Amino acid sequence: MAGESPLRVAVVGSGPAGFYATGSLLAADAPIEVDLIERLPTPWGLVRLGVAPDHPNIKAVSRVFEKTAQKPGFRFLGNVDVGRDVSHEELVALYDAVVYAFGAQTDRRLGIPGEDLPGSWPATEFVAWYNGHPDFQHLAFDLSCERAIVVGNGNVAVDVARMLALTDEELAPTDTTDAAIAAIVGAGIREIVMLGRRGPVQAAFTTPELLELGELAGAEVVVDPAELELDAASEEHLAGDTHAMRNLEVLRSYAERQPSEKPRALRLRFCASPVEIRGDGRVEAVEIVRNRLVPDGRGVLRAEPTDVRETIPCGIVFRSVGYHGVGIPGIPFDEARGTIPNDCGRALADDGSPLPRVYCTGWIKRGPTGVIGTNKKDATETVAALLADVADGSLLPSGADAAAVDALLAERGVEVVSQAGWEAIDAAERAAGEPHGRPRVKLCTWDALLGAARGA
Ligand code: NAP
Repeated sequence: MAGESPLRVAVVGSGPAGFYATGSLLAADAPIEVDLIERLPTPWGLVRLGVAPDHPNIKAVSRVFEKTAQKPGFRFLGNVDVGRDVSHEELVALYDAVVYAFGAQTDRRLGIPGEDLPGSWPATEFVAWYNGHPDFQHLAFDLSCERAIVVGNGNVAVDVARMLALTDEELAPTDTTDAAIAAIVGAGIREIVMLGRRGPVQAAFTTPELLELGELAGAEVVVDPAELELDAASEEHLAGDTHAMRNLEVLRSYAERQPSEKPRALRLRFCASPVEIRGDGRVEAVEIVRNRLVPDGRGVLRAEPTDVRETIPCGIVFRSVGYHGVGIPGIPFDEARGTIPNDCGRALADDGSPLPRVYCTGWIKRGPTGVIGTNKKDATETVAALLADVADGSLLPSGADAAAVDALLAERGVEVVSQAGWEAIDAAERAAGEPHGRPRVKLCTWDALLGAARGA
């Protein structure tokens, strides 16, 4: 790289996308410094606050992020909200390059009557609540009803359905918040119904996650064999799709199971869409319509409603039909897709030309798809684009320095949580979990998190 001074890069968002981009930048054969900017006092994004607490193996990827955080040139700037504490324009002036990796902040809507009745929740809020996200601890999920409905057939829907079914013994060794453990264990729920709008062959969930539903201590998985009968087009599609074949095999084994003594049932339904959420002042039932699958002319089978309807009484609904990205003022944004328009990670201006020095990666780049590891490849592509711009001279170090960033944040009274501050939070949480055989007991209020960080 030309010049003496290092390239200073701000990566915004410290989830897997942000950490993989940071790791890739710091591994480059060039002097690069990265400030990893995060709205929360804690890093790791959905690895801390999205991945289900009973999936410690998936959360173990945080060890990779811990190693990245120890590399020379790394700084964590937690509790800094881009858009509120510092604007996009200011970041671009303070750094040589900015990589946006702030994920998809909200949920997709169903667009049906009754969606906003009390008792109808976005799954994302339930997930944030049981994982100890400090912005969601005030929520009160009434789990006293007998039946819960989870709309959607992705891995988040599976997580929510499974979490609702876990027993005290299954939850105790996890870092689920104590409030969530008490609520789930004490819940009146006897049946959890998951609704897939298309058939078993089109389900988005992955086979290991589906298999786990068959191993729950306190809930029996129930599948009606009639709902596994395939139409001709699905049968044809199945032949070339090992993922769908494996799922179908597991579902068929579930359909053969005999009723068990387990206190809860987890029922998987297919080709069923909610058309209305009903209730007098709060959720009392969901009206569903039976769908059939029709080719859309582009190789995809889509759900088309029939005349067959059914009403399922229930007391709570979790809508789990995907996430949706939200923009930050000043950055070009495609509202319909919920992503930053980009070419291989180079953000694009409204006229389609590359926006100098602005990049993106992860869900805000490609949409809310893929598993954690998908973000590694994605970040590699973005960082390769950034380094190519350095190599061809279109992105050069400008002599930007960390002191200017610190001065601006100090002037605005922003209480930045440094890497040492996060390590103090981490140590306090792990120490609280250790005597109980739990990985950690999370601090889940802003006061508790910032208080622990101050102890650094
Ligand atoms: P997803 O995988 O995109 O699934 C969304 C589901 O919602 C699909 O089944 C979709 O059905 C359904 N849907 C969309 N609109 C609907 C509507 N109007 N009515 C009824 N159903 C509707 O999204 P996700 O579950 O939020 O997960 C996001 C990403 O995170 C995924 O890539 C997922 O694999 C990943 N993740 C992974 C894990 C894990 O590895 N354990 C855990 C959690 C999340 P159609 O297919 O018909 O559109």
